[in-house]
Amino acid sequence: MASKMRKTLIAGNWKMHNTAKESVDLASSVKNGVRPGYAGQVMMAPSFTSLHQVAAALKGSDILLAAQDMSWEDKGAFTGAVAPGQIKDAGCTHVLIGHSERRSIFGESDQVINKKLAAALRHGLVPVLCVGETLAERESQKTYRVLETQVSGALAGRKAEELSTLIIAYEPVWAIGTGKNATPDQAQDAHIFIRKLAGRLYSPALADGMRILYGGSVKADNVDEIMAQPDVDGALVGGASLKADGFLRIIHFQEVITK
Ligand code: PEP
Repeated sequence: MASKMRKTLIAGNWKMHNTAKESVDLASSVKNGVRPGYAGQVMMAPSFTSLHQVAAALKGSDILLAAQDMSWEDKGAFTGAVAPGQIKDAGCTHVLIGHSERRSIFGESDQVINKKLAAALRHGLVPVLCVGETLAERESQKTYRVLETQVSGALAGRKAEELSTLIIAYEPVWAIGTGKNATPDQAQDAHIFIRKLAGRLYSPALADGMRILYGGSVKADNVDEIMAQPDVDGALVGGASLKADGFLRIIHFQEVITK
């Protein structure tokens, strides 16, 4: 499979950090630091409370805006929840679905994630579906089984024609926020598995065109070797996306720099 026939995407997940002002400052610094003619895509996912202002700060750039989560409901008595239409109104084109912190801390099941993914597609939002195994699952050789359950659970009921925009982020739970990233081989291996699974569930064409990001302790000093893997189409970056300098180095990973 030809390397990087898919447009690369470097995405920052800011988690529960930053006031609106801090978010705008960070977004503006990143916007100003992306080199003209940059060949890939850049995305940021601030907190809900910062979305409107970050969208305004990003105007005039190609940087994409994502929410970190959303409800599967369109509107109604769902205190504390944020609807797909509301994040679109705030300027989002993309949304993270099923981040491991949503799964493990907030108890989101594959059924809930399936409903959120369907809602994102219904509203014309690009879902970034996050999947990944825990350390215990990896050590007991259950990685592929977990990935298969999470991907097929999230996509159950969806038809191939609905999924042309779908992005999957492989994020091994043991690598998120721990400083311990997957090796490039481990990432490539999981990405190939997910791509083949998408081919089996849908079609080789859908699988070939689908972008799969790696997430889990991506930093300036490991991004180049991870991005060099043929089936790694981008990165979902947590901690290292909170400082403009470091995130800009990740954005300008070696392969893009040398293009
Ligand atoms: C994430 O939040 O998706 C993530 C990968 O975090 P970190 O880069 O901090 O491991």
